Amino acid sequence: TNPDLSPERQPEDADAALRPKSLGEFVGQAAARENLRVFIEAARGRGEAMDHVLFFGPPGLGKTTLAQIVARELGAGFRATSGPVIAKSGDLAALLTNLEPHDVLFIDEIHRLNPVVEEVLYPAMEDRALDIIIGEGPSARSVRIDLPPFTLVGATTRQGLLTTPLRDRFGIPVRLNFYTVEELQQVVTRGAGLLGMTMEPGGAREIARRSRGTPRVAGRLLRRVRDFAHVDGNGTISAEVADRALTRLEVDSLGLDAMDRRYLTMIADIYKGGPVGVETLAAGLSEPRDTVEEVIEPYLIQLGLIARTARGRCLNDAGWNHLGITPPPGSQT
Ligand code: ADP
Repeated sequence: TNPDLSPERQPEDADAALRPKSLGEFVGQAAARENLRVFIEAARGRGEAMDHVLFFGPPGLGKTTLAQIVARELGAGFRATSGPVIAKSGDLAALLTNLEPHDVLFIDEIHRLNPVVEEVLYPAMEDRALDIIIGEGPSARSVRIDLPPFTLVGATTRQGLLTTPLRDRFGIPVRLNFYTVEELQQVVTRGAGLLGMTMEPGGAREIARRSRGTPRVAGRLLRRVRDFAHVDGNGTISAEVADRALTRLEVDSLGLDAMDRRYLTMIADIYKGGPVGVETLAAGLSEPRDTVEEVIEPYLIQLGLIARTARGRCLNDAGWNHLGITPPPGSQT
């Protein structure tokens, strides 16, 4: 896979520099923004902590950003951690007991919480209380500690990855979707301004088209194109400059990289367009099934190049077209 196109966070990403700071600055996700605005205003009006929020959707779409914005707009503190980092229930208890009233506690990758730790979260979310066992054996007893009112903001790639008891405790589930090219063009234009770049609308559009519906990828490609434009142009990013840079980076016209094309070509050449099972594809690509399902496929489905069916993955007409291959007679499109 082309690291420039990975939706996952990478150490060199300038995420913080490009982060919108308010709901008004946040581009796209109109439904999510409007919902959040209402809940934030209601909580502020009542002087209460906001109900718990679950953000779900592919990586790089703004879950962490929105969690920070929620805290800022509530006028509350922000604490961040992630599911795999909280090893023991004591770690979570320490975090919870140190919260200030109305704080936002953000848990990224919340589906990866250890089940024992997750159990501590249930009374914390529901009753804002912590049940602690003191002592051992027959003399052990449970003590309940009250917690300050707080808002838990969880993030996960798919809502279905959460256990039902955890999912049910979020009053405000918010789905994030891939961004349109127009929205990403705004993200790119805004980012270029923040980075002090001269960007023509055509240049912003070219980067937007190839960013896989994902602001994180847009931000990364923006910085790669900037480096290229310094060396290979007069510093102004036109559509031509952007196209040349992205082609050199092996990002094709739809934002597909070599791995995506191998995936599509495999279905076309070996399985005549499918259906073919995801396990088979993952083995053929030497990629974990999770990567195939959570990183490679969502964007190909979004573009309509492939379809997930009960019998397996199929190449759609648009997929054959993008590969420039005529479907063989009898293929399933
Ligand atoms: P996630 O937590 O979903 O993986 P992040 O919130 O870390 O994603 O966002 C990734 C990057 O994309 C950050 O640099 C952020 O500034 C940028 N970003 C996300 N959503 C938007 C948006 N709506 N407008 C502008 N930039 C955004």
